[in-house]
Amino acid sequence: MALGKDYATQECSIARALEVVGERWTLLVIRDALYGVRRYNDFLVHLGIPRAVLANRLQALTAEGILEKRRYQESPPRDEYVLTDRGIALWPALRALGVWGREQLGGEPMRTFWHADCGTELSPHGACPTCGTLVAVRDIDMRPGPGLAPDPADPVSRALLGPRRLLQPVETEQGPAPRRPV
Ligand SMILES: [Zn+2]
Repeated sequence: MALGKDYATQECSIARALEVVGERWTLLVIRDALYGVRRYNDFLVHLGIPRAVLANRLQALTAEGILEKRRYQESPPRDEYVLTDRGIALWPALRALGVWGREQLGGEPMRTFWHADCGTELSPHGACPTCGTLVAVRDIDMRPGPGLAPDPADPVSRALLGPRRLLQPVETEQGPAPRRPV
């Protein structure tokens, strides 16, 4: 459900951002896309999201220029959804939400994030303490944290069990990864 028309006309940039990403499930779709999920079925099984809601969110995020729809198979036609730079730019917001959730609501981290170049864990604000710089998303490695279930039921979670680079396309048993011939 949208926040209401008043939000769209507010000048507050938080309200305007929420008009784009504030609906239920939307940020989780973007989170999974940052983890490398690209395909409808993979979002579906990993999120446990209703089909109609997922279709709606993918369409809306594509219309907003946060995801780009790419045809990866012609017969039958199949599309995947890839984060644009505009979408990748949401990483710091998701990172901050994750840190806040763990600090304020508790629980063990399911995943930890590291500067790939030097192997240092990122600070809560996404900087590398060793290099003293904010780390670009493409230079971040994701590693399993203590809260990650060792034996997940769905193939996407299994694919995300090991260390991997953010945005690296997820390969599930359902089919080959994009750009790799069978
Ligand atoms: Zn570093």
